[in-house]
Amino acid sequence: MTTRPANLPTHLRHHIGGKDVDSIGGETFEVIDPVSNQPYATAAAGQQADVDAAVAAATLAFEEGPWPRMKARERARILMRVADVVASRDDELSALESFDSGLPITQAKGQAQRAAENFRFFADLIVAQRDDAYKVPGTQINYVNRKPKGVAGLITPWNTPFMLESWKLGPALASGCTVVLKPAEFTPLSASLWAGIFAEAGLPEGVFNLVNGIGEEAGDALVKHPDVPLISFTGESSTGKLIFRNCAEHLKAMSMELGGKSPAVVFADADLDAAIDSTLFGVFSLNGERCTAGSRILVERGIYDEFVERYAERASRIVVGDPSDPATEVGALVHPEHYDKVMSYVEIGKGEGRLVAGGGRPEGLDTGNYVAPTVFVDVPPTARIFQEEIFGPVVAITPFDSDEEALALANDTRYGLAAYVWTNDLTRAHTFSQSIEAGMVWLNSHNVRDLRSPFGGVKASGLGHEGGYRSLDFYSDQQAVHITL
Ligand code: NAD
Repeated sequence: MTTRPANLPTHLRHHIGGKDVDSIGGETFEVIDPVSNQPYATAAAGQQADVDAAVAAATLAFEEGPWPRMKARERARILMRVADVVASRDDELSALESFDSGLPITQAKGQAQRAAENFRFFADLIVAQRDDAYKVPGTQINYVNRKPKGVAGLITPWNTPFMLESWKLGPALASGCTVVLKPAEFTPLSASLWAGIFAEAGLPEGVFNLVNGIGEEAGDALVKHPDVPLISFTGESSTGKLIFRNCAEHLKAMSMELGGKSPAVVFADADLDAAIDSTLFGVFSLNGERCTAGSRILVERGIYDEFVERYAERASRIVVGDPSDPATEVGALVHPEHYDKVMSYVEIGKGEGRLVAGGGRPEGLDTGNYVAPTVFVDVPPTARIFQEEIFGPVVAITPFDSDEEALALANDTRYGLAAYVWTNDLTRAHTFSQSIEAGMVWLNSHNVRDLRSPFGGVKASGLGHEGGYRSLDFYSDQQAVHITL
């Protein structure tokens, strides 16, 4: 038994036009926790009619409400209050997030601080926003008129759900858009906090709307809704492809943050202690359910045996257990369906590589979605566990002999989200980064990121970049105004 958070709701509703409501037709779905795999709540399952109602409320707030017309400073003040309220609820949020998603409690803590920081950042940015003006003296003036695009459709995944929702809500609201959020059906619990947080901060009614539900129903209706001019989506690449096709009908703006199979490349001249610490963190933190997970580790032959031995020994000591226990380092995977997927890759891996740690359910944990941190070595690039996103605590390690081979292996995947490079050779570090097909490269580091820098992937990992002004640009139209003098 895991610790049940205090005041755990037993029913989750939509939030439409300032009110918590059920689906018009009364449809619901069950929400389970990943330790007992038993339902702890029902949630309203949004259908077309519910999405229509949410979009109508958001449209009304956009067309007639104060939010898009407020001065940037006024909107920023409210977003700063949102940040303060979010930060003050860190304990409550982390308990809910850990319970609902299986994230270790120590890692769930801090998600509220990151979410709060996203609001602070975009509040600051919108006030500092400047637009271009061009003058041809005595002839003409041209300037840019920035306008919020309208109702933003936001569709989010189940990994670190609250924080990822904030990464879309912050810039959408800062830009003056109104929103309809469709959170992931596996983890709707933390999203149920938003309506209260926004109300407490003074966000006008109708600006934030939330429809719970299944992707193929509520998500699909939002994507296809003619009054939603843009969709910001984070999730699997296959879902992204489908959404892309469905957005085409209305030529919608799209931002897509998709899957990854990111390489961590460790050269023989690297600081080996730091590289081992970091590559363990890269794939085993957040239960391995991390889009930027370094799930393929490429190691230069000269240090390969030592790396493998030390890595496997450390991986086998990682503490797997109850997500609410502060000693836990890897908790329960989000859902039995996902557990089955990850376990199927563990079995596939046994025929593709050499197993040196984990390989199944940890001893003593007979129920719950627990997978032991699993390390396969000598994995050929043709292996499915080298090519496909597993999204769990499973890593493939492969040796290389030269920079050229390392680069070819790193790029030998359809994904291109992140890459990690470990070397003390400055020139190699930068030239290698130039050639690697990844939206983001971390050199001798991980997880440090200034929110002004672009976030996003190339190839099958995404379309468009978020972060800094790029996010504000996505949620805005930039009208060019020209006048002849
Ligand atoms: P998913 O694609 O299954 O679902 C994501 C969201 O899309 C959910 O809200 C779901 O209900 C909705 N959805 C599903 N089908 C839909 C449809 N037909 N129309 C509209 N909406 C639909 O992804 P997931 O399993 O929740 O999340 C894990 C995936 O997300 C992994 O691939 C991971 O790499 C990726 N991810 C990427 C980033 C990034 O920034 N690149 C961040 C986090 C997660």
